[in-house]
Amino acid sequence: MEKILISACLVGDNCTWRGDNNYLPFIEELKKKYELVPFCPEVAGGLSIPREPCEIRGADIVTKDGTSKAKEYNLGAQKALQACKLFNITIAILKESSPSCGVRNIYDGHFNQTKIVGKGITTQMLESHGVRCYSSEADLRFLVAEEKKKEKEYLSFEERGALRRKKGKSSSSPRKPRSEKKEQAGVSKEKTFFPKNGEKKPFRKNEGKKPFGKKGGKKNFAKKPYRGKRIQKTNKKSA
Ligand code: SF4
Repeated sequence: MEKILISACLVGDNCTWRGDNNYLPFIEELKKKYELVPFCPEVAGGLSIPREPCEIRGADIVTKDGTSKAKEYNLGAQKALQACKLFNITIAILKESSPSCGVRNIYDGHFNQTKIVGKGITTQMLESHGVRCYSSEADLRFLVAEEKKKEKEYLSFEERGALRRKKGKSSSSPRKPRSEKKEQAGVSKEKTFFPKNGEKKPFRKNEGKKPFGKKGGKKNFAKKPYRGKRIQKTNKKSA
C-alpha cells in the first residue's frame, strides 16, 4: 500500500496551537487506499501544545507580538522532508491555511483572519523536493478517484505525457495521415476526392442549392424595404 504523509491534526491528533484537532471524516476513505503517516511539523520543530498562533509575515514567521518562530518552523519542515525520504513518500495531504501546512492559501500576517494566496513553510519545502502536496479542503477527491479521467484532470502536462508514454501512446510518435486512415476504413481515396475525367462528381449534400430561400437569399434580402425609412417618408408626406 502506498504511503502518504498527512497533517497529524487531520487524523484527529490534538496538536493544533489551541490543543485540539481538525479531524476530517473523509480520512476514513483514504485509509482504504493508502497507508497514512501522520506528521505535525510545528510539534516536530519543537513548539509546544498549546502554543502561540503564528503567521507568515514577509520572509519571517511571527507570533502576534512579533516574536520570530522561523527557526522552529524551518526545523519542522526539514523533519517532514526527512520523513518523506525515509518512507519513500511522494504525496502529502496538508491542512489548508496553516503557516506550516497551507497548500493554496495562508493568513496574511496581520492576525485579522484575512487569507491570501500562498504556501506554508513545510509545503514549500516538500514541493521543492518533488513531493506532491494536496490541500485538505479541495484535493482529496483526487486521491480516492477511481476513474482515470478524474486523475488526469489533476496531473500536470509533464505527468500526463509520462503516463501516455508508459501506455505506449507516445505523443512524439508520428500520426497517420487522414487519407491513410480513410483507406483503412474502406473509403477509396480516388472516388472521394479526385474523380477522373468524364466521371461524375461525388454527390455532396446541398450541392447546387441557393444559400437562402427560393430566389436566392442575398438578392431577396437586399430587396426588402427598410422599415425605418418608410416610416420617415410617410411622416414627411403627411406633414
Ligand atoms: Fe496540523 Fe500542520 Fe498545524 Fe501541525 S502544523 S497542527 S499538522 S496544520
